[in-house]
Amino acid sequence: MKKIAIYPGSFDPVTLGHMDIIDRALKIFDEITVSVFVHSAKKPMFSLEERVDMLKNVLKGRKNIKIDCFNGLLVEYLKKKKVNVVIRGLRAISDLEYEFQVAAANRTLYKDIETVFFMPRQRYSYLSSSVVRDIAHFGGNVSKMVHPYVARKIREKKISQ
Ligand code: ADP
Repeated sequence: MKKIAIYPGSFDPVTLGHMDIIDRALKIFDEITVSVFVHSAKKPMFSLEERVDMLKNVLKGRKNIKIDCFNGLLVEYLKKKKVNVVIRGLRAISDLEYEFQVAAANRTLYKDIETVFFMPRQRYSYLSSSVVRDIAHFGGNVSKMVHPYVARKIREKKISQ
């Protein structure tokens, strides 16, 4: 049977840290769906379409990857997709408490769910989409944090603002 997992997140925008997690997970799973969570309460820097476009572009060389999006409860999305494995990344210890809460809540709602955590390489341990957005906001150089395609999209967004 194919080992399939879903990697949910905001990906606003996708960073080299997310890509590192995806590459690690691809060594273990046969297929991964990277799914953009549509968060109605958050005002994102990039629209859903832009986030999906960036994921498609930066991951286009990789096999066994699908890109999707969802809103509402993750567990309902998983049931609909008939997948019970969720991938999450763990950076510094600060991620642990939040990720534990979410994984425990998801397991309460859906007992068959398994959350699998991957640790990125050390240089990405302090990298987050919000750090990239903050640096981008002040016109800083994000080329060591994101794929060149994403860096270009950030520059284009700054110019059009
Ligand atoms: P969310 O808004 O759901 O936290 P993100 O897109 O920020 O979504 O992150 C999705 C997942 O990827 C989370 O599990 C997060 O901890 C993980 N992640 C984000 N950045 C990194 C990174 N630099 N290294 C490892 N994991 C990361």
